[in-house]
Amino acid sequence: MKTPNLINYSDAYSKFDWQREQKNLDGLPNGGGLNIAHEAVDRHVLAGKGESLALRLIRKDLSREDFSYGKLKNLTSQFAHVLKNLELGEGERVFSLLGRVPELYIAALGSLKFKAVFCPLFSVFGPEPIFQRLSKGDAKVLITNSQFFEKKVKGLLDRLPTLKYILLTDSEEDLSDQVRSLPNLMRLSPADFEIQPTQPEDPALLHFTSGTTGMPKGALHVHQAVLTHYLTGKYVLDFSPGDVFWCTADPGWVTGTSYGIIAPLVNGVTTIVDEEEFDALRWYQILEKEKVTVWYTAPTAIRRLMRMDFIPKEKFDLSHLRLVLSVGEPLHAEAVIWGEKAFGVPILDNWWQTETGGIMIANYRSLPVKPGSMGKPLPGVVAAVAEIEGNEFRILDQIGNQGHLVLKKGFPSLFRGYLHEEERYQKCFRGDWYITGDLAKIDQDGYFWFIGRADDIIKTSGHMVGPFEVESTLMKHSSVAEAAVIGKPEPSIGELVKAFVVLKEGFDPNEEMRLELIGFARKTMGPAVAPKEIEFVTSLPKTKSGKILRRLLKARELGLPEGDLSTLEKD
Ligand code: AMP
Repeated sequence: MKTPNLINYSDAYSKFDWQREQKNLDGLPNGGGLNIAHEAVDRHVLAGKGESLALRLIRKDLSREDFSYGKLKNLTSQFAHVLKNLELGEGERVFSLLGRVPELYIAALGSLKFKAVFCPLFSVFGPEPIFQRLSKGDAKVLITNSQFFEKKVKGLLDRLPTLKYILLTDSEEDLSDQVRSLPNLMRLSPADFEIQPTQPEDPALLHFTSGTTGMPKGALHVHQAVLTHYLTGKYVLDFSPGDVFWCTADPGWVTGTSYGIIAPLVNGVTTIVDEEEFDALRWYQILEKEKVTVWYTAPTAIRRLMRMDFIPKEKFDLSHLRLVLSVGEPLHAEAVIWGEKAFGVPILDNWWQTETGGIMIANYRSLPVKPGSMGKPLPGVVAAVAEIEGNEFRILDQIGNQGHLVLKKGFPSLFRGYLHEEERYQKCFRGDWYITGDLAKIDQDGYFWFIGRADDIIKTSGHMVGPFEVESTLMKHSSVAEAAVIGKPEPSIGELVKAFVVLKEGFDPNEEMRLELIGFARKTMGPAVAPKEIEFVTSLPKTKSGKILRRLLKARELGLPEGDLSTLEKD
């Protein structure tokens, strides 16, 4: 097993300096600054690594399409020229509505080369969520295919007056002055593009994140963020030359861009992309066949894998896998322990969000893993818990105190705004601190433990209960596959804890099972915190990135408006 890149966490943390770290990146020639695409692609070619495999795309039929760093440099340069020839301005927004196909990756990096702002959309979005994002994001260019254009975009054009061009990936002919053939435009473009000087604050990426109510928010990120991508690739994903990395997320979710594209390429390793959606056996085959060494996935997928009745490493050759990581939701202690049995390595949880642009709190190879904990802050990131009451803001220093998870400004990947929503953005800050909207506590060893989204906390009989705590307990019962917990108003106790439970195959959702689970939770957690109501369901509503939508369960339970459902995953 290779030595971890981060050998001594405390030492690295105490001595960390972002400016010094920046020296590990190249910068554009002649002091032109950090440009994400240059750091991810061109610099490796300039360093003589043009032949190395940058990106391997696994098509739906399991065939492969390979892109060396050299090939990627040429294609992304051509794409940058396409934007230039269309007379797009720097900072203007280029959107994609594509599955995980090569054009998505070429457009993302090519847009960054040109210094346009790139915004990838989930291809499964229907017309309305697409319209919301294109109009709020002032889209100038959209890359999509003929089918999506006909079905989802054409009918919106009247309402999108600023959308200048739609580039079709699969059309050999222009349909109009506005709807153009991307292959034709690419053919007319040279494979060499000089990236213009890039300032640290130049905008680079736009990611929409669902609000609890109302419209999605557009979080804006800058080119300097590449430093976080580089550093987390080095310390958390522990990249070394020769690594084969697979991040299962779609670029429509920030994870699929920061870690499905940027971090592995900046670190010069090979990144695998699977065009297909989740399929347990297919995934294991990919891990085996591609000899994946570092695998980054999400709790929702891990829970589905845990339900299968075999031990993966006994059925597949997973001997190359040396690191498995998870993000997006709390990773239950059971899953961490299962990982050890399933893959021979524990699953390392880490925490971050769209607004932070990159991993902020993580478990590292060189530190003992405490199952159920998110780990410790990345060197260069100051994290704390705070008490917030109206305008009062106080950092809590006592160990074990629960509070709002806050991060000190000063790391490069923190978002620079919610597009067109300055007030909403300002509300996220108190002085130098960014309020994440999550609750957490810190233990005596400096490990962070997730409590819940501040919005999801349940107040019952004078207790503050995080849904994760109750869900984790229920998951310990051998019959439970998944659980989601909400608070339901109940005048005598404030809120009553209600659990929605999906049972594993072979278990009956009957009264006896309901009582068994309530009894189990009461014994484990105490009667004040254990669920008083349990409802069996066959699935839980989730976002496209796999997060359980507790607020939707609550709205449905209480007959309230369901809010923004654009990221709801259809069963
Ligand atoms: P998003 O911006 O869609 O990626 O969502 C970010 C939110 O997901 C965070 O604010 C957390 O509420 C949740 N989240 C992400 N990673 C974790 C984790 N490791 N443990 C618990 N919650 C997480």
